[in-house]
Amino acid sequence: MLKGVFISLSQNQLLTTAAKKYGLKLGAQTVVAGTTVEETINSIRKLNALGISATVDNLGEYSIEREEALEAKASILEVIESIHTNGVDAHISLKPTQLGLDIDYDFCYENLLEIVAAASKYNMHINIDMEDYDHLQPSFDLMDDLLKEYDNVGTVIQAYFDRAQDDLEKYKDLRMRIVKGAYKEPIEYAFQTKEDIDENFIKLIEYHLLHGKFTSIATHDHRIIDQVKKFVKENNIPNDKFEFQMLYGFRKDMQVDLAKQGYNFCTYVPFGDDWYAYFMRRLAERPQNLNLVVKQVFNK
Ligand code: FAD
Repeated sequence: MLKGVFISLSQNQLLTTAAKKYGLKLGAQTVVAGTTVEETINSIRKLNALGISATVDNLGEYSIEREEALEAKASILEVIESIHTNGVDAHISLKPTQLGLDIDYDFCYENLLEIVAAASKYNMHINIDMEDYDHLQPSFDLMDDLLKEYDNVGTVIQAYFDRAQDDLEKYKDLRMRIVKGAYKEPIEYAFQTKEDIDENFIKLIEYHLLHGKFTSIATHDHRIIDQVKKFVKENNIPNDKFEFQMLYGFRKDMQVDLAKQGYNFCTYVPFGDDWYAYFMRRLAERPQNLNLVVKQVFNK
């Protein structure tokens, strides 16, 4: 039930706007790297020093005005330049709806094209994050169109969708991130139980490890991570074919341990003032994260 409450809260426009105005609150600062590019580069430097790379997300989604999407594009271009100038180990994750997918497909494509072109100059990867089901096929279409011109693009497969295996087979020659899926999706096309989602998640990871180009296994679930470690060992899959990913601020000790054990590790680093929806989705996934909120409120 709590999951539904937090997902609804994440979609509340009024609260999103208020949150932007009043800065990082409610404990969000523990899971958001900063509000400026400079703060974010500093956070990435600290991760790099621990042997961890970063994928940087300029927070924000569902732009309804062209202006918002253009501002987001400018901010992402600034991050790409800063990553390059500062020589930090990082690439970009972005959300098509932030860059105008709900406004106009071609407008969004042009925004993405400019970003992918800028990153390609520095051999930097661009990951297209996957949002809800309504945006799934349009996001794949965007990637297909971008791949006609550039090869530094990949996306995400959400294991809760029953079409996930077909999508993964289609994109086996790409660098792909595999996740369980963060949105609330209906039974018509999405697995609903934890058992079914976990089973499909493992199946997809193993498929891409065996047949895919490069696999980003994005999860905080130690049981899945242990299974992957066993699978790669048994199948002689070298460490340079995959990486583990977790979100900034979550299971920090485990992130460092995995990097120390010699696995490639990449932290998803969100930054910016549009933190509210991101933070609500994290609460939806794991209501224990409410502890973060409670601690912040009482530690004033
Ligand atoms: P869960 O199913 O949430 O947890 C499984 C178990 O792991 C828990 O029962 C608990 O025992 C343990 N556990 C989990 N978290 C913690 C913790 N913080 N501390 C201690 N124990 C814990 N979703 C999308 O839909 N699209 C995307 O593009 C996308 N990108 C992502 C990128 C990254 C790097 C990550 C990490 C996630 C991304 N997600 C994305 C979110 C993802 O789909 C899941 O919603 C989210 O990761 C929660 O699932 P989980 O696999 O981490 O484990």
